[in-house]
Amino acid sequence: MRLQGKICLITGSGSGIGRSTAVRFAEEGAVVIVNDLNDRDGNETVAEIRSNGGEAFYYGANVTEPDKVEAMVADIIAVHGRIDVLFNNAGISGVGKLHETELAQWERVLQVNVIGVYIVSKAVLPHMMERRNGSIINMSSCIAEIGLAQRAPYAASKGAVLSLTKSMQVDYAPYHIRVNALLPGTILTPFVERYLKESYEDPEAGYRSLKARQLSGDLGRPSDVAQAAVFLASDESTFVMGSPFYVDGGATFG
Ligand code: NAD
Repeated sequence: MRLQGKICLITGSGSGIGRSTAVRFAEEGAVVIVNDLNDRDGNETVAEIRSNGGEAFYYGANVTEPDKVEAMVADIIAVHGRIDVLFNNAGISGVGKLHETELAQWERVLQVNVIGVYIVSKAVLPHMMERRNGSIINMSSCIAEIGLAQRAPYAASKGAVLSLTKSMQVDYAPYHIRVNALLPGTILTPFVERYLKESYEDPEAGYRSLKARQLSGDLGRPSDVAQAAVFLASDESTFVMGSPFYVDGGATFG
């Protein structure tokens, strides 16, 4: 059990990579705090974990709302005493070439993908600093480094998460808090299914073109990212700090 007894908060864990990670963390002995803004999906993740004999609790909150996030974190601390691992996973897409996008779209994407990381981390960090221990995983994307057609606001947001991660690592290393970024390639989740429908007249052709970007020859699965998250959350990775951690089937390298 690589995460035995660890209290792990995963934002946006009602779907996709977040849900898969929540299930894996529980299999490794963690007490999983499932957060999402979609109560039905979040509760489904909890039900899946409990049906496997794991321990999980659902907290509905939008990561862009500081009051709700602070109340959630205060309650987790009151009930469980601490947060050992924070996985800032919640994120939304932002489709379009720069000149086609609207300001409101940029504001929405940056608000969730970047400012959401700030809001949740700000609420959790004082508790980790007090205990001088913690692992934070921020969800970036290989798009931060290699770009992708028609996703200007999204690429900008994930680049910001990568820089923020490095800056956080420098600031919180003295408190023995590790901060790493995950950079997945294209992972087959509802998020990517929506992207294929929105961006391609023929989603099948879109799927083939995304596949062609991967040296692995296929898209990733949520469990591929979940495995990497287990490593970063666990004490196996105590010497991994401020890293861009690629789980991209070779998309960045290729
Ligand atoms: P998904 O859409 O399947 O899941 C995202 C979850 O986040 C949903 O349950 C959604 O309700 C929740 N969420 C959205 N906004 C929220 C908010 N403001 N507050 C709380 N919860 C919120 O997506 P996914 O593919 O699993 O993506 C998860 C993360 O991984 C995202 O940050 C995404 O950018 C990143 N990512 C995905 C891929 C991929 O190919 N799927 C690749 C690289 C990075």
